[in-house]
Amino acid sequence: KRRFASFPETMAPPSALSVAKPEVGQFDPPKRLLCGPGPGNAHPRVHAVMALPQVGHMDAAFLRCAEELKSLLRYAWQTENPFTIPVSGTGSAAWEAAVANLTSPGDKHLVLVNGYFGHRHCDMASRYGAEIVRLDKPWGGVYAPEEVDKACAEHKPDLIWVAHAETSTGACQPMEELGAIAKKHGALLVADTVTSIGGIPVLLDEWGVDACYAGGQKCLSCPPGIAPLTLGDRALEKMTARNEKGEKVANWYLDMNMIKAYLVTNDFGTPRVYHHTAPISMAYAFREALKILAEEGLENSWARHRETAEFFWDELTRAGLECHVPYENRLPSLTTVKIPQGVDGGKVVTHLREKFQIEIAGGLGELNGKVWRIGMMGYNSRKENALLVTNALKDALQ
Ligand code: PLP
Repeated sequence: KRRFASFPETMAPPSALSVAKPEVGQFDPPKRLLCGPGPGNAHPRVHAVMALPQVGHMDAAFLRCAEELKSLLRYAWQTENPFTIPVSGTGSAAWEAAVANLTSPGDKHLVLVNGYFGHRHCDMASRYGAEIVRLDKPWGGVYAPEEVDKACAEHKPDLIWVAHAETSTGACQPMEELGAIAKKHGALLVADTVTSIGGIPVLLDEWGVDACYAGGQKCLSCPPGIAPLTLGDRALEKMTARNEKGEKVANWYLDMNMIKAYLVTNDFGTPRVYHHTAPISMAYAFREALKILAEEGLENSWARHRETAEFFWDELTRAGLECHVPYENRLPSLTTVKIPQGVDGGKVVTHLREKFQIEIAGGLGELNGKVWRIGMMGYNSRKENALLVTNALKDALQ
């Protein structure tokens, strides 16, 4: 006997469900100051636009939003690359898009490992059949151009991967000479700018970076969920040559040959072809975050991150604490602070969260138990936050 007489026999629901309805209350997340390695707190204007009316992903209104977002991204990255798009997913999705589209099986990747994310590239690229040649530095170190040049001469890589800003260590890799080195050796240069975009100078065209990805949730003050990718001429040549040879990108979702027809056309009148349903509200959010950056101006945003960081480092010194990375390579957006001898770093993280609603994080890998990672990124990069965090640390340590 059926309870739902209006259903045809083939679709009729059962008279009793086998999985009971769960009882859940209203979700009321705590209001935290997010000063860990990311995400940081999103800008209130960014949260607000997420509530704007929904349109469809093929709607001209949405495509206009995407085009504006793309031009704002080119400004943020200082690149003229026409292929500059938001990828649906977090920073790792944009990263994997770069890897999947630019790696033929057997390609050699020279990976400049100096922290956790270098390890991730080795893992990710090897899944696409890359042969990994990895250089290693102690965590917190950076590479001199001569070291990269020498490794290229020895190994003849097809691609060089580098983290401009290593979030696991707080080190900033000098980029100025790497593009010319990659070009000289016929390799593509792929840079991770997840923790640098918007917070410190990132000049992709000037540096000669061939492919780059980032995240929205750090110095751009957007919630996680959408991430930019840009491909320069040399990267596109490689991608197109593979495609013409019939070599399929081993990842359907991130195949940029197909996404190109949805998100990249030379002129706005070209019909777009559906690939997947873009995350509409995330695109609103990301566009707004990038607009806020443009309103402030890149140079002002970089200066604000620098001033906040200098102030924070001075306050840390006054509190008797020490930074892990030498001053000249220290990232303004993410500071690794040495945990003093005899202190349980994890307890301090808990103390800050429970007593002050402040999130900071411990170290990863080689730096596990040795440092705290403290971010002053985007909307959060303000002296008042630097003071709140330092005072909370002092409270925890007394
Ligand atoms: N690269 C770096 C340097 C990062 O800091 C992160 C995230 O923290 C990622 C890549 C991965 O980004 P996501 O966690 O957004 O996937």
